[in-house]
Amino acid sequence: MLGAIMTHDAAVVKAREIANRVLTPSAGKNDKAGQFSTEAVVSLGESGLLGLMLPTDAGGLGLGPRTFAAVIATLAEADASVAMVYLMHILGSAIISAARPGTAQALAPILKEISAGRHLSTLAFSEAGSRSHFWAPISRAYRNGDGVRISAKKSWVTSAGHAQSYVVSALAPEGKGPTDSTLYLLAADTRGLLVAGPWDGLGLRANASSPIALDDCQVPSHFQLTDDGAGFPAMLNLVLPLFNLGTAAVALGLCRAAVAGTAAHLKSAKFEHLGQSLGESLPTLRAQLATMQIDTDGLSARIDDLIDHLEKPRETTMLRVLETKAAAGDVAISVTSAAMRVCGGAAFSKHLNVERLFRDAHAGAVMAPTGDVLREFIGKSLLGIPLF
Ligand SMILES: Cc1cc2nc3c(=O)[nH]c(=O)nc-3n(C[C@H](O)[C@H](O)[C@H](O)COP(=O)(O)OP(=O)(O)OC[C@H]3O[C@@H](n4cnc5c(N)ncnc54)[C@H](O)[C@@H]3O)c2cc1C
Repeated sequence: MLGAIMTHDAAVVKAREIANRVLTPSAGKNDKAGQFSTEAVVSLGESGLLGLMLPTDAGGLGLGPRTFAAVIATLAEADASVAMVYLMHILGSAIISAARPGTAQALAPILKEISAGRHLSTLAFSEAGSRSHFWAPISRAYRNGDGVRISAKKSWVTSAGHAQSYVVSALAPEGKGPTDSTLYLLAADTRGLLVAGPWDGLGLRANASSPIALDDCQVPSHFQLTDDGAGFPAMLNLVLPLFNLGTAAVALGLCRAAVAGTAAHLKSAKFEHLGQSLGESLPTLRAQLATMQIDTDGLSARIDDLIDHLEKPRETTMLRVLETKAAAGDVAISVTSAAMRVCGGAAFSKHLNVERLFRDAHAGAVMAPTGDVLREFIGKSLLGIPLF
C-alpha cells in the first residue's frame, strides 16, 4: 500500500472509513476524559494518510491541498480533536519535507517513517512570551559545536507527549529583529524536552495541546530545517496557507456535524401531546436549521475558492488565505451556537454531541493567527500598511 498511487477519492473514502470505525465511537468518551486517541493515529498511519502530502519518492501519497482539506473535514465531522492532530502533523511533515538541502540524508529516514505511518509530527511555535504572535519567538538558538542549543517555553503544542518529533521555532543565533527565526526539528526523546503541564481545554479536549519546555536542548545542524533567519518566510509561505485551509476544513466538518446532529434531533424528539416531532411542529426551528445549512454550504464554497487559489496562485491568494480562516472561525461558532439553541435543553444537558461541537468550534478563532489578528492583517493590507 505505501508508496502506491492513491487518488483523491480513495483518500477521502479511507478517511471516512476511519472516521466511522474509530473516531465516531470514541469521540465523546475521549472528549470527556481529555484522552488523546492513539488508536486514531495508528489507523491513519496504517491507511497511508500520515504521508498524504509527502512526495511519492519519499513513500508519500503526493496529494495536494484539495485532498488535505477533504480528509480533514471528514475527520472533523467525527472528531475535531483528531482532525487537529492530523492537521498539525501534515504541517510538520511539509516543513520537514521542504527542509534545506544539507539535511536530506538525516531527514530521509524520518520521511520514510512518516510515510510508513509510524511517525507523528507537530508544530511548536507559540511561546509564553509572545503569546499568539507566533511569528516572533522570544527564545533564541545559541551556537554550540556542530549545532545549537535552545531553551524555550512553548505554550501550546498539539500532540504534546504523543508526537515523535516537534518542529520548533527560535530566533536565529545572529538574528537581529523579532521575526529573524529559524526552524529546527527536535526528536521527542531530545534531552531537556519535557511536556510541562496537563491539557484541560474547553474544547479540542482530546488533542493533548499541552505546553512544552525546552531546557538547553542540543540540536545538531542536520536537524536545522531552514537557513538561519528563514523560519519566518517558511511560516508565511508554507505553514500559513495550509494551516488556514486546514483549520477552515475543521470548521466545515464541525458545521456539517452540527447540521446533521440538529436535523436528527428535530426528527426524533417529539411533542407527544401534539403528536408531532420538533421539526414538524416548529417553523422557527426549521428556519434556524436552514440558516445553519446555508452558512455551512457558504463556508464549503469559500474553502473551494481558497483551494482553487492555492492550486493556481494569483495576486489575491494571500488575501483568500487570511479571509478563509477568519470567516471559518466565525461560521463554526455561529452554526454550532444555533445548534445549541435549536436543540435546547437536550444540548445544554450534554445529551447530544452538538455541545462538544460548540466547544470545539471555539478553538478555531483563538488558534494563531487568531480571527482578530487576521482582520488586522486584512485591514492593513487593504490600506497598504506594512503587516509586521
Ligand atoms: C487547542 C489549541 C491548540 C494549539 N496548538 C498549538 C500548536 O500545536 N502549536 C503552536 O505553536 N500553538 C498552538 N496553539 C496556540 C495558539 O496558536 C495561540 O498561540 C494561542 O491560542 C494564543 O492564546 P493567547 O491567550 O496567548 O493569545 P493572546 O495573544 O494573549 O491574545 C488575546 C486576545 O488578543 C487578541 N489579539 C492578539 N494580538 C492581536 C492583534 N495584533 N490585533 C488584534 N487582536 C489581537 C487575540 O485575538 C485574542 O483575542 C494552540 C492553541 C489552542 C487553543
